[in-house]
Amino acid sequence: MIDFTQFNNIIALTTYFNTQEKCRRAIIESRWPDDDVVCLYCGEHHCRTRKDGRFRCPQR
Ligand SMILES: [Zn+2]
Repeated sequence: MIDFTQFNNIIALTTYFNTQEKCRRAIIESRWPDDDVVCLYCGEHHCRTRKDGRFRCPQR
């Protein structure tokens, strides 16, 4: 998991997170450290990724 304390100013932060994908990966790793995304709606481990990168519950 990324250590956010390493960024001691906004320049360091925006230099590191220079792409949407880097931001996305860091958020996923922060929230689900084992990379096993848990569905927000039903708590299952069945999320699919939409074209826009968001997660989707297959039951909704
Ligand atoms: Zn679900």
